[in-house]
Amino acid sequence: MRKTLAVVIKTVDFKDNDRMITLLTQDHGKMSAKVRGAKKQTSKLFFASSLFCCGEYGFYEKNGFFGVRSFHIKYSFANLQNDYEEYSAACFIADAANVFAQEDYAAPKLFALTINALYALDNRSVSWGTALGYYIQRLLYIDGIYPSLEACVFCESGKEFTSFSKNHGGVVCAVCAKEHGGVRIDSEFISAMKSMEDILPRDINKVKISKRIEKKLISVLIDYLEHELQKPLKSSRFIKDAL
Ligand SMILES: [Zn+2]
Repeated sequence: MRKTLAVVIKTVDFKDNDRMITLLTQDHGKMSAKVRGAKKQTSKLFFASSLFCCGEYGFYEKNGFFGVRSFHIKYSFANLQNDYEEYSAACFIADAANVFAQEDYAAPKLFALTINALYALDNRSVSWGTALGYYIQRLLYIDGIYPSLEACVFCESGKEFTSFSKNHGGVVCAVCAKEHGGVRIDSEFISAMKSMEDILPRDINKVKISKRIEKKLISVLIDYLEHELQKPLKSSRFIKDAL
């Protein structure tokens, strides 16, 4: 039986008491597993099937499917549910992890990023906007789709960036913006992005971004992320409501 540290990123109920959970694991990427009797409060596995629950999972395998056999809780992240914004941000993080993680493909960086971002949200050690802005910029970096911030995506000029083009994946200079448009950004936006580049997920509470730039970062980066995915993430509308 294999055991791994994992966090629940999606749950689907079926039958009366069973639940199918999607886990982001430390060692095996994304995994789906059934939890029998998940909804009975007396069940030993009651917490194992709750969204955002994190711990060591043990599995059995039957007919090519996995089921959860054992669970030792590490973090419940139960405090996430107490505020709309923190909960929405956590849901977005879980959705994005679900889209980017692959089965049987270890993704330790994505796992560390996800756990640290959820931890920061749960503890309120940074604002929800900072946690989410950092999460998305790091996700883009890990996935190799980090936008160009050094040179205009049209003319390669290195100065006076006034816009961001999601279609071309980066900043646009004042001259090219007149012709090609894009979303308005300023030098503080670029500085905030660069300030986060050297901060590891475990140091997420060192990220310092102003409220105005948090909102800009989130809206620009979500639009860019969804453009790259070619589909919206289902929780992004809750984030846009909260901005
Ligand atoms: Zn240009």
